[in-house]
Amino acid sequence: MDKCSFCGRTKKEANMLIAGLEGHICDHCIEQAHSIMNEELGSKKNIPFDTINLLKPEEIKNFLDQYVIGQDMAKKIIAVAVYNHYKRLMQKPDAEDIEIEKSNIILVGETGTGKTLLARTVAKMLHVPFTIVDATVLTEAGYVGEDIESLLTRLLQNADYDVKAAEKGIVFIDEIDKIARKGDNPSITRDVSGEGVQQGLLKLLEGSIVNVPPQGGRKHPEQKMIPVDTKNILFICGGAFEGIEKKIAQRLNTQIVGFGASKIREKVNKDNLLQYIAPQDLRSYGLIPEIIGRLPVLTHLDPLDRKALRAILTEPKNALIKQYIKLFKMDNIELTFAEGVLDYIVDKAIEFKLGARGLRSICENIMLDAMFEMPSVEISELEITIDYANRKLERINLKILKAS
Ligand code: ADP
Repeated sequence: MDKCSFCGRTKKEANMLIAGLEGHICDHCIEQAHSIMNEELGSKKNIPFDTINLLKPEEIKNFLDQYVIGQDMAKKIIAVAVYNHYKRLMQKPDAEDIEIEKSNIILVGETGTGKTLLARTVAKMLHVPFTIVDATVLTEAGYVGEDIESLLTRLLQNADYDVKAAEKGIVFIDEIDKIARKGDNPSITRDVSGEGVQQGLLKLLEGSIVNVPPQGGRKHPEQKMIPVDTKNILFICGGAFEGIEKKIAQRLNTQIVGFGASKIREKVNKDNLLQYIAPQDLRSYGLIPEIIGRLPVLTHLDPLDRKALRAILTEPKNALIKQYIKLFKMDNIELTFAEGVLDYIVDKAIEFKLGARGLRSICENIMLDAMFEMPSVEISELEITIDYANRKLERINLKILKAS
């Protein structure tokens, strides 16, 4: 007689019995299996916030320290913002009626100083969906490019289309400076990536229900939009704001004329004007005041000096040099760097103004031949000397690395 292979119910006792290759399953067992699965998956996807072991801001910063050199101010601000973000999500309505508002962040720093790296590192330790999107692809509705709503597509995808989870997520918008209004520039007649885009972005930042195309873009006009509430999504924006130092200098100059001016003037560090950045500088740069108002936490990243570049080579958990050593170790070759080689690499990065990104290109050029040849050679040790590095770099024009 046919019966459920799981619980033994007979065809009569069950409402339904489904036959498989070697047995049967009844409707009771299907239901039960389904709820077990939901429980298991649900608990992984949507961890209730009160049960999360929240990292304290100091612990978040310590985590960031393992991967990102310097940038203490930005790390502190991000640590606090992320911590508060979780607390907001956990808040229950109370008698006092105090609602913690979210504080979106804007990071300003030269390219290659670690903005994206910070964002990626934050993502590593988060319990909420996270995505990095690029503002340069955005254009006003009706023009070639992406609509603002598509910023949230990736977040939805990263949340496995779990809308509730996505609504608590964090979005990093890179190159936010590229949507600054270029109104002062007469050669740009149609400001497709300027104010219109900012107005669109404002809607997201303010918190509203946005219809998100689940597949992104406009390639699938038939797709059904998914409404997403952005009220609780934390936005972190980053941009290089090239040339903003001039605006800062102008402001400082006008501010410090007058009583006590000379004293303040002496204190201003002209090599790192970004540290004095204020909301009005973003405004002079072309961001509309409403956007600036929605990004209340403004901070800067420091330019990387020689010491920082040297540290980037060896100190982070997955530092470049550690990676090469590991790669060679997998071929049973012990890779070492003679004294001074790492300083030599840093010197080249500074000489050709290549920044932190350049360190990688320089190392790749030095190591390429060795990585190509060594696996087929029977050796157990390899030392990179300054002379060797120099010979490898002579072949290439370091200036062209700048673009990378
Ligand atoms: P940005 O987003 O500011 O233009 P990135 O974060 O993409 O710059 O940095 C480019 C690369 O340079 C990173 O992948 C990393 O390897 C290195 N880098 C930059 N800044 C730092 C830093 N502060 N600490 C460690 N590595 C860094």
